[in-house]
Amino acid sequence: MSAITLSRLTKVYPGGVRALDALDLSISDGEFFALLGPSGCGKTTLLRTIAGLEVATGGTVEIGGRNVTNLQPGVRDVAMVFQDYALFPHMTVQDNIAYPLRIKKVGRAARQDKAAETAAELGLSALLDRRPAQLSGGQQQRVALARAMACHPQVFLLDEPLSNLDARLRLEARTFLKRLQRELGVTCVFVTHDQAEALALADRIAVMDGGRIRQVGTPVEVFRRPANTFVAGFIGSTPMNLLDAEVTGDGITVAGVRLAVPEAARGLVADGDQVVYGVRPEYLDLHAEAVDGALAGQVVVVENLGSSSLVSLDLPGADGSAGVSCQVVVPEGREPSLGATGWVLPREGRSLLYRD
Ligand code: ADP
Ligand code: MG
Repeated sequence: MSAITLSRLTKVYPGGVRALDALDLSISDGEFFALLGPSGCGKTTLLRTIAGLEVATGGTVEIGGRNVTNLQPGVRDVAMVFQDYALFPHMTVQDNIAYPLRIKKVGRAARQDKAAETAAELGLSALLDRRPAQLSGGQQQRVALARAMACHPQVFLLDEPLSNLDARLRLEARTFLKRLQRELGVTCVFVTHDQAEALALADRIAVMDGGRIRQVGTPVEVFRRPANTFVAGFIGSTPMNLLDAEVTGDGITVAGVRLAVPEAARGLVADGDQVVYGVRPEYLDLHAEAVDGALAGQVVVVENLGSSSLVSLDLPGADGSAGVSCQVVVPEGREPSLGATGWVLPREGRSLLYRD
């Protein structure tokens, strides 16, 4: 049992920065859980507070049903992998991996055996006698993982473990990490500022901002139904279009066009409400001719995304106010020309309304 329960967890650093603000979160036993958010939102502080490397100012940390808020890191049964790996440069790979066992006073022969065995599981057997400087970034990362695994912790805390790897290695390491976590069956809390990484890896994601959690859900939930405009703008390889709108009678008016109230918001808004209409660029279709219920605009930018393109259009503002920008993903070969007029039609059931 290694579920993690955080209740009203607060961390105020000396000097007054409130890095965690009465945060509540439950992570299940064996879950691969991602903490996602912009730089400075408190991700590292949250991991360090779970690990016991920071002392909470308020609230509690429970691991496996045990209140560990005031326990030392060594007795919490967690292992942390740091962003920069924090390997000891003067030690060999084997000694690095064996280090936590040395701290636990495991005898030399037993810990060298255990280190070799863990190294073998991670494909590091040939590198046992090398020092960190003689390893590639990907190998260093595996040594850091092996060091964390050597003690068989119930909980793995990983702080942006892939951020120092180049794009290709990163994909490889990501798949490797996911497989490893499945095989070990441990609870894993994984910090990233990369939404694509979180969507690809996690069973569930918490999106953080300013020491608080703005939404918790599965990748599909946070992608399809972001709970607020912060999450909507953060998740997705291209940010969601967020357009000012007004509820008018039984519909809404967006950039001068009347649309139906999105399914998800029916019954929750009233005539005259000022709202924000949200729709992902992937869920809009671009037409070259006028279509009922489409927003008309002028094509200003076309960016190649590989097998598709991202088209930016300027839509006219309501009642002569400044125009707004809207982005649409179009399939390869369907790119409009610059300056052309395009009609943007939202797909059924894919748009949302926000009040913030
Ligand atoms: P993240 O990992 O999401 O980038 P951090 O947890 O590192 O965020 O930081 C959260 C906030 O706490 C930031 O405003 C940061 O400047 C501040 N902070 C982090 N560590 C310390 C510290 N040791 N002393 C004072 N402020 C800190
Ligand atoms: Mg950090």
